[in-house]
Amino acid sequence: MVQKTKKMTNIVLFGPPGAGKGTQAEVLKVKYQLVHISTGDVFRYNIKNQTQLGALAKSYMDKGHLVPDGVTIKMLNAEVDKNPDANGFVFDGFPRTAAQAEALALLMEEKSSQINAMVALEVDDQVLVGRLLERGKTSGRADDADEAIIRERVAEYYRKTDILKDFYKAQDKYFGVNGVGNIQEITARLSEVFDRL
Ligand code: AMP
Repeated sequence: MVQKTKKMTNIVLFGPPGAGKGTQAEVLKVKYQLVHISTGDVFRYNIKNQTQLGALAKSYMDKGHLVPDGVTIKMLNAEVDKNPDANGFVFDGFPRTAAQAEALALLMEEKSSQINAMVALEVDDQVLVGRLLERGKTSGRADDADEAIIRERVAEYYRKTDILKDFYKAQDKYFGVNGVGNIQEITARLSEVFDRL
């Protein structure tokens, strides 16, 4: 196999459910010509198309729980491999556990690349729940429609995901950004970080 020499910029866009990762990733992928991978979107695509993976994922998502690492990591690897010519990736909703963060580091290493930064949207829990309930009115997402499930998703974030900040801080790759404001304001704050990488 020919070794890839092109340098990629790979960013983990981080934050609790409802922080605005998906909205911002859609803007930033265009601005910085990156491939946006949202594991939540890939799971929802599989649910819509009634695949086996979709059925498995749905059984966890409907409860507000994380899908097991094994299937999630395998799926993420396949999504990355679909884009061999990417300038880089913006990962949205992945990694969410320590095992996923380690798998991602390994995958990047295999591509002679790396994660350049974790950029985290910081938003208070109360704001999150309100935003997700509001989004649930139009998103059609079962996991946005019920306050108990929303709270479970936020709890799952603090149980398994929030610690990943330390994983990236230890590598000097963590950048926190205020996630409260309008879309353009938040894009501008994120861009300040992206432009420095
Ligand atoms: P999201 O669209 O990122 O809010 O994800 C919606 C749901 O998909 C989550 O609540 C999880 O059930 C599942 N999910 C998405 N990404 C992951 C991941 N990296 N690990 C495990 N489960 C995930």
